[in-house]
Amino acid sequence: MTEGSGELQFEADGMRIIMLIDMDYFYVACEELRNSEVRDRPTIVGSDPKGGNGRGVVMTCNYKAREFGIRSGMPISIAFRIKPDALYLPLDYDFYESISKRIMEVIRGFSRKFEQVSVDEAFIDASDVVSGYDDALTYARKMQDDILNKTGIKCSVGIGPNKLIAKMACEKAKPNGIKAVKESEVRQFLSEARIDDLYGIGAKTVERLKKLGYDTVDGLANANSMEMVAEFGALGTEIKGYANGIDNREVTENYEVKSIGREFTFEKDTDSAQEIEGALKKLAAEVMKEVDKSNIAFKTITIKLRYYDFAEHLHTRSVKSTRNPEMLSGTAIELYRDNAERKKKIRKIGVRVSNLTSYKGQRRIG
Ligand SMILES: [Mg+2]
Repeated sequence: MTEGSGELQFEADGMRIIMLIDMDYFYVACEELRNSEVRDRPTIVGSDPKGGNGRGVVMTCNYKAREFGIRSGMPISIAFRIKPDALYLPLDYDFYESISKRIMEVIRGFSRKFEQVSVDEAFIDASDVVSGYDDALTYARKMQDDILNKTGIKCSVGIGPNKLIAKMACEKAKPNGIKAVKESEVRQFLSEARIDDLYGIGAKTVERLKKLGYDTVDGLANANSMEMVAEFGALGTEIKGYANGIDNREVTENYEVKSIGREFTFEKDTDSAQEIEGALKKLAAEVMKEVDKSNIAFKTITIKLRYYDFAEHLHTRSVKSTRNPEMLSGTAIELYRDNAERKKKIRKIGVRVSNLTSYKGQRRIG
């Protein structure tokens, strides 16, 4: 991209090119692979509509359903009122996960710096494998084709100098598109965005920002730094950074080997604290068995809660390097008590330890 000038070359070397790859209408796209009807009919994947009395929401729907105004997140009862003769399909998460695994394998082949974000989304850091933005577009197109040819699933790709911009560009690329936002275009790109669109800022934070009078990204970009820190602590500086297109978050692979975890699916979705805590204890004991075998200690404990509607949350706590079974089961239960949405039934839970260190090494350090 740069020629002649050593100074420019230096700048190009430090430049990152991050890509966010996101599958289009993933659940519906999966269903289409095994059911040709999906292509021709408005199709909604989500809760059982129960003749219009069903509770729960639309998880995903195809274009044909969208034409009628149906959207993901909409109560299933309303979708049913709009289009009772649509094809309604229940979620089959195991099936989607099996396809997700194949997709992630393909993406992983495009960069060693790979980070899966969710079942249908992943970042890669392509800085070392492309020579600039023109090359990045070609690379992304190749990746899109490969994913489609190998799995039958279409995706969109956002490209930018960091995760924030890549993610936001991807939103604009949907469906089945590619959008690149170069460093020099970031300012303009952000000034056209809403603060709700800033990736990494939660809904509650957005609400607080609006109360403080920050309605636009440009306004937030020029926020008083002291006020931001007073209001949000360290996060305040980060938020202002995002509004200025600054995001230093790295693309980091979550190596399976770097953690030990076990998961459990309840036969019937449950909100019984007793049942859930009992299951967490059992999982913690199973994880501990593995820890004992491997001569390691852990510093981070994570629980996963997947609710009946497939919303999935991870809750994490760091402790002093330990291999104490009570510490593990106690922390797992505390994390559940502190974070679970009590009114929502849980389908699946998991316990994981990570940040592993060698037990021997740890003893030597003291
Ligand atoms: Mg998606």
